Amino acid sequence: MAKATKVAPKKDAANELQEFFEDGLKDIYWAEKALVKSLPKMQKNATSTHLKAAIGDHLEETKTHVTRVEQVFESIGKKAVAQKCDAMDGLIKEGDGILKETQPGPVRDAAIIAASQKIEHYEIATYGTLATYAKLLGHKPALSLLLQTLKEEKGCDNLLTKLAKSEINLKAV
Ligand code: FE
Ligand code: FE
Repeated sequence: MAKATKVAPKKDAANELQEFFEDGLKDIYWAEKALVKSLPKMQKNATSTHLKAAIGDHLEETKTHVTRVEQVFESIGKKAVAQKCDAMDGLIKEGDGILKETQPGPVRDAAIIAASQKIEHYEIATYGTLATYAKLLGHKPALSLLLQTLKEEKGCDNLLTKLAKSEINLKAV
């Protein structure tokens, strides 16, 4: 078994929840902007018209998410800064890989839904955590902005589940 090691923090490592909250905002800001660039490719490679429409609708929502993160920064008196989110970078790369590994049609559509739901779940986890921190830190306007986006991520995830169950997975079998 690999030996576990204790990790020495970087010099500028967060020591307060406020700093950790801001780091999380920087990550999700990068992630939302990366999604605005990657969603059109997913949409173009989908076959089902319902799936194409769902991705298109969520692309518009995602553009709003970028703006909303900027508003969250503004509400706490900070400049909006993006910091590469390794997790989202990996999830987007996985989505790209899935396109190469599937033929166009129901199987690729099922794979696009699978990749998209991993992305939505990551966003749901992130916004849920950020909302909890905003509440603890007393950032009321930030909290309501984060909850609005959280609701839309959940809505997208539910719609994808419905599409998968109602048509796409069945056609893929
Ligand atoms: Fe989003
Ligand atoms: Fe999303």
